[in-house]
Amino acid sequence: MSAPDAGPHTGQCLCGQVRFTVSAEPVGSRMCWCRDCQRIASGSATVNVLFPEEAVRYEGEIGRIEMIADSGNRVERGFCTGCGAQMYSKTVEPAGLPMRVRAGTLDDPELMAPTAIIWTSSAPSWAVLDPRLPHHPKGPTPRNPK
Ligand SMILES: [Zn+2]
Ligand SMILES: [Zn+2]
Repeated sequence: MSAPDAGPHTGQCLCGQVRFTVSAEPVGSRMCWCRDCQRIASGSATVNVLFPEEAVRYEGEIGRIEMIADSGNRVERGFCTGCGAQMYSKTVEPAGLPMRVRAGTLDDPELMAPTAIIWTSSAPSWAVLDPRLPHHPKGPTPRNPK
């Protein structure tokens, strides 16, 4: 076991073609049940660890898709072109929101447990929503951007 502040944090996609390092500690972590996330996460929520965008460095060939998310924000999602693993999402417009690194791509999935669940209003009835965490029916707001 390494010390909690031993960074940089590292991670990779399923096939190892895409790797990344993060030179900052997480600023939050959350599960997202929006419909877009259900589509890319095979039916479940995505689990995302939030970092300042400038602290995250990717290497390898990344495919990118830009869409208007359920929030109305313009969001870019990055994935490995070799294995298709989802790597991150970041909000292009409005700017300044933290980057969401897919928790499963981190070498250490224990880095930060989810602290909130968002978009619970679009979760299916069978979803298991941890009652110990705050539930938000929709996405983050400017007042609470995490
Ligand atoms: Zn890959
Ligand atoms: Zn989502």
